[in-house]
Amino acid sequence: MLTRSTYEPSRPPAVPGGSPSILPNLIKGVAVAIFPIRTFGDPVLRTAASDAADFDMGLRRLADDMLETMYDAPGVGLAAPQIGVSKRIFVADIGDGPFAMVNPEIVDLQGSWEFDEGCLSVPGRFWEIKRPGYARARGFDVDGRPVEYEGEELMGRVLQHEIDHLGGMLLLERLARRTRKQALRELREEALDLKPVEG
Ligand code: ZN
Repeated sequence: MLTRSTYEPSRPPAVPGGSPSILPNLIKGVAVAIFPIRTFGDPVLRTAASDAADFDMGLRRLADDMLETMYDAPGVGLAAPQIGVSKRIFVADIGDGPFAMVNPEIVDLQGSWEFDEGCLSVPGRFWEIKRPGYARARGFDVDGRPVEYEGEELMGRVLQHEIDHLGGMLLLERLARRTRKQALRELREEALDLKPVEG
């Protein structure tokens, strides 16, 4: 997820000769990678992701690569389908440090909050979107331990936005009907502009 305001990442500083890992207890000594972010129109973004079955090195590596990609963007949250991996995992950092959630589910939503919301997969666009203000999600960390995250405002929004991605849903689907139609028209026109026709 993306915020319009200037975002100060809380990414821990690199330790010379230390682990490139961002999350604690991730693999040591393996270089992480930054992936291209899939954008609107890519079918992987409209596909419901599958539960991660193995809490193995591959999953830890994926979380680390996703965090690198998110910080590089920079964004406050990134879901696996956004780098083309149809697996139920997202990473986020709203300024309190990085975390990852595997196979997360929303278990509680309350209140209402309007926020200028953006998405790394729909670059350069923001919409005032009203959603519940408080969210609580239950899932697992990369080691398979049960975890819960909850929060109001930005935290609540990130949880809802990223878990939507895992269900194959973009923020466009949270827009009011008329705004959504207009947004889709603009995005399609933009896509056409990228492929000009001769003559
Ligand atoms: Zn997004």
